[in-house]
Amino acid sequence: MFNVGMTSRVLLTRRAFLADLGRGSAAIAVLSVVGCGQAPTSASSTPSSASSRPSAATASSGPTTPASAATRLNASPGPSAAATPGGSGGGEAAWTRVELGFVSAYILVRDGEAVVIDTGVAGSDDEIKTALGGLGLGWSDVGHVILTHKHSDHAGSVVPVMTAATGAQGYAGAADLRAIIAPRPLTAVTDGATVAGFRIVATPGHTLGHISVLDETNGILVAGDALGTVGGTLAGSNPQFTEDAAAAKASVVKLGNLRFETLLVGHGDPIEGGASAQVKALGRG
Ligand SMILES: [Zn+2]
Repeated sequence: MFNVGMTSRVLLTRRAFLADLGRGSAAIAVLSVVGCGQAPTSASSTPSSASSRPSAATASSGPTTPASAATRLNASPGPSAAATPGGSGGGEAAWTRVELGFVSAYILVRDGEAVVIDTGVAGSDDEIKTALGGLGLGWSDVGHVILTHKHSDHAGSVVPVMTAATGAQGYAGAADLRAIIAPRPLTAVTDGATVAGFRIVATPGHTLGHISVLDETNGILVAGDALGTVGGTLAGSNPQFTEDAAAAKASVVKLGNLRFETLLVGHGDPIEGGASAQVKALGRG
């Protein structure tokens, strides 16, 4: 699956893209993708990039997007999208993980309608499309796109994703909303709101507008970067990239008081089975 030919083609594409854009903000966004340390960059670039939104959208909509080259260069597992279906079995999958290298997006499906939660770094739209296809769904089945927070490794592909998913409404926490560039206005969601039957849980700290998504029916929590399992260890928000440490800790306690079996995080593998008890224990620590 991975071969040298593919790599060099991607590199060439990326180079051409950067040459085309020159000092454009989209190029800056591509180069700055590393992880959740990019909050200041993405936030500060917001005003200037807002005006270049159409060109960024156009550049991302091609079949081999340069930004996906950035994804692949950073992706340790390899260049191919890996969609991991999970959930209760016996019927449609309750959730699917879209592995995008060091970060994951997720797709929850209810009544044939897909809810995309986070969008990875810029150029991840092809992988998300592939994951939808694995569920027998396409862009037209995406009714909602929820961004857990503004960081560029989570909101990085919201422009191509919402451009392709023409019927999708987008959501983010109010405090993060203005830092996110999207092709259509996003809806600010607050604690307790529901989107497609899923409950929004405000989990500030990692960013002030960070939100998590709880599927109460299937016992699934999508926690974004409020929790992580990098290296197999459950932890709260990475202190290095946390805007408000006290709030982040309170959010861990809050999540530990919810009931869910499966935990899906932005960075690291899912915990399947007894997840909320582990989060509760973490909150006590
Ligand atoms: Zn983050």
